[in-house]
Amino acid sequence: MTSYAEFYRQSIDQRDDFWATQARLVDWQTPPQQVCDYSHPPFAKWFVGGTTNLCHNAVDRHLADRGEQAALVAISTETDTERSYSFRELHAEVQRMAASLLALGVKKGDRVLIYMPMVAEAAFAMLACARIGALHSVVFGGFASGSLASRIDDAEPVVIVSADAGSRGGKAVAYKPLLDEAIRQARHQPGAVLLVDRGLVPMELESGRDHLWNDLRAEHMDAQVPCEWLASTHPSYTLYTSGTTGKPKGVQRDTGGYAVALAASMKHIFNARAGQTFFATSDIGWVVGHSYIIYGPLIAGMTTIMYEGLPTRPDAGVWWSIVEKYQVTHMFSAPTAVRVLKKQDPAYLKKYDVSSLKALWLAGEPLDEPTAQWISDALQVPIIDNYWQTETGWPILTLANGIEQQTTRFGSPGKAMYGYHVKLIDEATGQELTEPNQKGVVAIEGPLPPGCMQTVWRDDERFVSTYWSTIPGRQIYSTFDWGIRDADGYYFILGRTDDVINVAGHRLGTREIEESISSHPNIAEVAVVGVADNLKGQVAMAFAVPRDATGLEDAAARMKLEGEVMKQVDKQLGAVARPSRVFFVTALPKTRSGKLLRRALQAVAEGRDPGDLTTMEDPAALQQVRSMVAA
Ligand code: ATP
Ligand code: MG
Repeated sequence: MTSYAEFYRQSIDQRDDFWATQARLVDWQTPPQQVCDYSHPPFAKWFVGGTTNLCHNAVDRHLADRGEQAALVAISTETDTERSYSFRELHAEVQRMAASLLALGVKKGDRVLIYMPMVAEAAFAMLACARIGALHSVVFGGFASGSLASRIDDAEPVVIVSADAGSRGGKAVAYKPLLDEAIRQARHQPGAVLLVDRGLVPMELESGRDHLWNDLRAEHMDAQVPCEWLASTHPSYTLYTSGTTGKPKGVQRDTGGYAVALAASMKHIFNARAGQTFFATSDIGWVVGHSYIIYGPLIAGMTTIMYEGLPTRPDAGVWWSIVEKYQVTHMFSAPTAVRVLKKQDPAYLKKYDVSSLKALWLAGEPLDEPTAQWISDALQVPIIDNYWQTETGWPILTLANGIEQQTTRFGSPGKAMYGYHVKLIDEATGQELTEPNQKGVVAIEGPLPPGCMQTVWRDDERFVSTYWSTIPGRQIYSTFDWGIRDADGYYFILGRTDDVINVAGHRLGTREIEESISSHPNIAEVAVVGVADNLKGQVAMAFAVPRDATGLEDAAARMKLEGEVMKQVDKQLGAVARPSRVFFVTALPKTRSGKLLRRALQAVAEGRDPGDLTTMEDPAALQQVRSMVAA
């Protein structure tokens, strides 16, 4: 049994041997000749000369040993349906979808845009693309026409796979009119549209362009579409980042490196085995959905659960009822979702037997202590924070409990994962920080390990200039997040590099100020931004959601609460951190994935144009801020 420290050291010092061993976790048609080609940094090519296929590894290779085991369970509390597909059935459905895409003219290397709710057909479409070597570009189903149109133009898909409608809170949300409008707006025109008709809303079909999945499926009932053996470096998909800090970046991923990285993460990070059940509550429109709803669990021969619905409907026990019914062993969610559940009656959690669960992994944003504590008490399993990015495809920092059981340290997502040569860089000097507890930019010495982005889709220049320009002359990838590392190698993420404000020469983290403000008993949630100020350079401005807003229509009551909040920051952090204003709002502007859009708040607070808002959840929240600041 190796210690994690030793395992990690091998991954860095004997990089090629290490990854050659990991490469055995997947099937290759032709084995790789070279583990890593880094002759043109920062572009890394993994498993060069090897040919493989993601769909083969996720589906076909399990047919012999576990053909009748459930592979995919699609549960919808929106339509009250549960559909379960064994690996054998999934294999058949994916081939029907692959044959349909081929019939619509899709060829290897072409893009297929998937704009779908969380239904099984979305998984068939992703796997079918992988099977024939087409690149999928999944666009989150909650996006409206404008966002979709810009992604259609970026991906230039030959076919778009979509549906009549999604559903949210029991109400159908029509997709087809949004798609039609997006295609009307887009410069690029897809050759065909393949539509899943869920019978939720009527659809008008455009003849010659629109096709129904039911018709094509029936035509290709017995289709046999062999897996296309693809070069390891063949791109498998493109996916956009969440757009929290600016225009979303089109992340392009390879085939072989991604397969190996996911297979390795299932074993070493999730300590998962074939036959167990994985339930990630994300959406296929995000990276967690790609890596840990679809590919990771299936590559590992697990049953994966795909869930359409809210965490609170029909009641706040719905996830736990799924855990009980399907004996879920591994669960993956986001702090936002747990915070939603925390507001509900805790009795819901106690109603179900969740003893099958081994751990709950949370990612996507900082995990605050009250949230971690609450869910840990409720579930009585380890709560494992993990830090990564759309760009990396799998965790950078967490605990590799499959190698060695390690204790969680509160507030820390964990240690550097094998393969990631993580460093902290001093922003001012560009020097690496080697002492414990120093604050720097979290960075990764190139090459990035397998599974990470190859480049920005069709924009190598943007890849280099965006991520690799932190230290001139060094091949260092910047995450644009601040962090510190303690003496035992645990990292703590302190926020994004653009979340730092400079008040009269003092550099302050917005997160610190936010933590201070949220410790006021009547503040539920708060965002702090730096706003340009003639005198001080920048001042902090706070937007807070009160827990109880009764009486706050009254200006005097608002001023009283504002004063209390300011006094609290004075006391905890000092007057320099005191916000110049505290505005009380009913909601904060967030991305569709639940992340705070601080840069949009800042722009509006400064009276600037907020820029790309395509990933914003609720425009009204920003409108409210605009009118308050203007008043
Ligand atoms: P964009 O790059 O388009 O601005 P984004 O960075 O929000 O959007 P994602 O790739 O979805 O897009 O999110 C990655 C970021 O989320 C990380 O860089 C980090 O800021 C934050 N993050 C993810 N996981 C954690 C975590 N466990 N703890 C703290 N922050 C996290
Ligand atoms: Mg990012």
